Amino acid sequence: MIKKDRAVCLRTVDYSETSQVVTLFTSRAGKLSAIAKGSKRTRSAFDGPIEPFCFGDIVYSTGRGDKLATLTEFEQKKGFLSLRTSLAAFNCAYFAAELLEAFTQPLDPHAELFDAFLQFLIDIAGADSREGLGLLILFQLTLLAEVGTKPLVCECANCHNPFSDKWREIHFSSSASGLICPDCEQTFNDKIRLTTKAAAALNDINLIGTAEEKTLNEIEKALIYHFTELMHRRPKTAKFLL
Ligand SMILES: [Zn+2]
Repeated sequence: MIKKDRAVCLRTVDYSETSQVVTLFTSRAGKLSAIAKGSKRTRSAFDGPIEPFCFGDIVYSTGRGDKLATLTEFEQKKGFLSLRTSLAAFNCAYFAAELLEAFTQPLDPHAELFDAFLQFLIDIAGADSREGLGLLILFQLTLLAEVGTKPLVCECANCHNPFSDKWREIHFSSSASGLICPDCEQTFNDKIRLTTKAAAALNDINLIGTAEEKTLNEIEKALIYHFTELMHRRPKTAKFLL
């Protein structure tokens, strides 16, 4: 069956001298793996080789069962996150793409997540390192919420006492999936300590846009720890952050 959609490329693997297997995130179908035959030829229906973060309209046909889909057209929009953008922006984008791929299932639609990822890629292209980190944190929180594992940060994830900036110690625990108050801290072995500023910014994401870079670094460290626990391995592209 032939289908049309909008897609952004998450990852590419060379399949042969002229073809690629691409992992796309699409607006209507979610994550999609497809073979792009002849995509590396200079004249192709894909506007040249497909690279991570290429975005545009696609035409593809689905295979039977587990067979890869076949990409037949990719009309790439120009001026999107390009290799000329900063390395810091690219590193954030690669990390977001790795998480998006890890936390979504093939052909499971997430239209809002698609829009959020696209907006993230647009915004990050012009961001400095502090802004970029803030955007990445917001995208990660959106991703967690969209896949149904939103961490609990407005109260203690264990005893449900409302979060207070008066807590003498604040921890984030992955197994509790949220903040842990000083009274419950002993119950959890897997945890990372947060400053009040970092916990407050997690609580009120409006603070992330103006937070200091060291606070954002701290939040990102906690998120990397959380994703590492959830994935049972450290995300490969985490080493390019912080
Ligand atoms: Zn508690």
